[in-house]
Amino acid sequence: MSDHLMKTYARLPVTFEKGAGALLQDTNGKSYLDAVSGIAVCSLGHAHPAVAEAICAQSQQLIHTSNLYNVANQQALADKLAELSGMDRVFFSNSGAEANEAAIKIARKYGHSKGIDVPTIIVMENSFHGRTLATLTATGNKKVQEGFAPLVEGFIRVPFDNVDAVKAHSDNPNIVAILVEPIQGEGGVHVPQAGYLKALKDICETNDWLLMVDEIQTGVGRTGKWFAHQHDGITPDVMTLAKALGNGVPIGACLANGKAAEVFAPGNHGTTFGGNPLACAAGLAVIKAMEIHNHISKVAEKGDVLVEKFRTALQGQAGVVQIRGKGYMIGIQLDRPCGELVGKALEQGLLINVTRMDTIRLLPTFVMTQEQTEQLVTQLTQLVKEFLAA
Ligand SMILES: *Cc1c(COP(=O)(O)O)cnc(C)c1O
Repeated sequence: MSDHLMKTYARLPVTFEKGAGALLQDTNGKSYLDAVSGIAVCSLGHAHPAVAEAICAQSQQLIHTSNLYNVANQQALADKLAELSGMDRVFFSNSGAEANEAAIKIARKYGHSKGIDVPTIIVMENSFHGRTLATLTATGNKKVQEGFAPLVEGFIRVPFDNVDAVKAHSDNPNIVAILVEPIQGEGGVHVPQAGYLKALKDICETNDWLLMVDEIQTGVGRTGKWFAHQHDGITPDVMTLAKALGNGVPIGACLANGKAAEVFAPGNHGTTFGGNPLACAAGLAVIKAMEIHNHISKVAEKGDVLVEKFRTALQGQAGVVQIRGKGYMIGIQLDRPCGELVGKALEQGLLINVTRMDTIRLLPTFVMTQEQTEQLVTQLTQLVKEFLAA
């Protein structure tokens, strides 16, 4: 095994060779049921035929030109995202962190246009927004920030799912925006109370701030709506996407609406690769497949069923703190650190994730069959019970 990689990850002892649907196969031919989807990326399942065909065909025609020119796929994908979100404009990036960088720059420039010299963004405790300097500063996790000071200025942190904590900053003349995840993913699958984003949107309107929702994990159908903020019936000023947008082909997007959509002028922001013909071909194929197979409403339904199955299977089980989630974004919080469950599940041919030490996070593919769903519930319930009994 190569020892020339930077030690940024403590990797599990497995190498995958191929996949299909909800299944992966390792280099020894062993099969795994994937309930992580590459962290909410391969929502349509592995090696999705329509996505594979789209990128194959596009690669034979044109992979890259430049944002110096019009890119037809980019315009088509922007039109589609605008239609689905009701938002006006899109900037395409290569990753989630870059999409958030664009959002942060929009907020700052918006502030400066109003004569605010130190534009400041409200961010949440326990949040995750990426690993670039600005996004790791916005992230509410000391471990992500440790060793990288000096951090970026212009952020104020408040508790998540607490409207009053945001309101308390209404008198601060430097605030220009709120950046928030509709459901905190890395932070442990925390679902705020219904109406939370609506309340934040109202505060933003009153104070002329931008509501910026980080839907990098929750977007593109994961929670049973195209975008999780739609559960609250609002349209944000800015929204960021990435993970599932290309089903594995790197692509991110920063969408903006109304006044926020008019902030950037030529020269204010840019990217070499962002929105290239190949990545956008993948994005277009993903959205088309989601529509053809009606995945959005199916995920809403199947997610409810899956949570209910776990609640039933783990009912009365001491050590289980809470089972929560929306759509196919599910957290099972235990009363103790449970990272070792990941390796145990792996041995049994099941891929799960643990975040925030004590929360099992499930982000299954939308194409998991009923049989595979039963397998996930049975196998994981058994693992959890054994772990808690030990
Ligand atoms: C994954 C994630 C990011 C970072 O995306 P990258 O593509 O890894 O840069 C940002 N915000 C949220 C909510 C995420 O889940």
